[in-house]
Amino acid sequence: MADMQTSLQTTRLASLRTLLAEKELDALLVSGPENRRFLSGFSAREEMLAESCGSLLISAGAAYLLTDFRYRDWAAREAPAFEVLTYQAGLGDTLAGLLKELGIRRLGFEAGYLTCRSYERLAGDALQAGVEVEWSPREGMVESLREVKTPEEAALMRRALALTEAVFREVAPLVTPGLTERRVAWEIERRLREGGAHGLAFSPIVAAGPNSARPHHHPGDYALREGDPVILDLGARLEGYCADLTRTLCLGPPSDRFREVYRTVREAQRRAEAGIVPGMMSDAADALAREVIMAAGYGEAFGHSLGHGVGLAVHEAPSLSPYKDRVTPLKAGSIFTVEPGIYLTGWGGVRLEDMVLLHEDRAEVLTSLGFLELE
Ligand code: ZN
Ligand code: ZN
Repeated sequence: MADMQTSLQTTRLASLRTLLAEKELDALLVSGPENRRFLSGFSAREEMLAESCGSLLISAGAAYLLTDFRYRDWAAREAPAFEVLTYQAGLGDTLAGLLKELGIRRLGFEAGYLTCRSYERLAGDALQAGVEVEWSPREGMVESLREVKTPEEAALMRRALALTEAVFREVAPLVTPGLTERRVAWEIERRLREGGAHGLAFSPIVAAGPNSARPHHHPGDYALREGDPVILDLGARLEGYCADLTRTLCLGPPSDRFREVYRTVREAQRRAEAGIVPGMMSDAADALAREVIMAAGYGEAFGHSLGHGVGLAVHEAPSLSPYKDRVTPLKAGSIFTVEPGIYLTGWGGVRLEDMVLLHEDRAEVLTSLGFLELE
């Protein structure tokens, strides 16, 4: 097992080194928690932005994991492909020493993860140590390696999703008038944990009645009422890998509006799932669903992207966004969500979210949960 893990890490390091050469970087400083885990195997996760469990410094010939006393033994055990170095008064001096020793002139860093304060400190420490290095902000380098999943990663995600669906099946019958959103969220959270999840992919969303018009509502004291649409969005995490699932329920007999909105969202989802193939641009995938919702007159009410990649992070590449600046071709082997929604302020909303695995010729819907039967 340890050997398999090391060979996985060696393969991933080799892919990153090819990218370093392409981008003419001497090394990359990795601060993103999922990127750090993906490359090294070290599974610690920060609970706060201002905290760090460690960083990686990877050059053509070296791979270091820099951390402090709290994580030293853990990192050494989980990341045998890396040399673990411990710092005491912060990363700066240790990093400066390594940059000098390795002769790094052009250093990539993860602009999306290294805070402004950390960057200024690290650059200041390097300068003070007399190291002449160009700091080159980078985005998406390791993320691009994470986009296509190995069969082992896909298998883990199927398991995380199966657990998530089992919890949904248990909780759905409990969703009845009088319960608060918070209570339903706790029923979900408790069952995910008891069912064997190593953690939550994200805090469950329970949005009822008018609150369901807010796509990322935080469950509160609102007590569910007869006739309410209720959006449940949940996901287990297993070995770091996430699942993501949304279904919308209706308490009691659905209104005509609920029927129309629900059918439209489901049809949009069905069209996208049937039409997405590898090589398709991500905005074209989004358009498959968006056109259905626009044709039904709800274009303005679908204010988010069709979906997002899932993996070690619950939101990662690719982004199935309508915005041109985020357009990428969809790749076989990637796993992402298809989650159209319609949100009407004052009334509520409907979102339906599946996970799909893109094969060479089609998108396989990994989610097995059905839908409301509205005649
Ligand atoms: Zn979700
Ligand atoms: Zn999602």
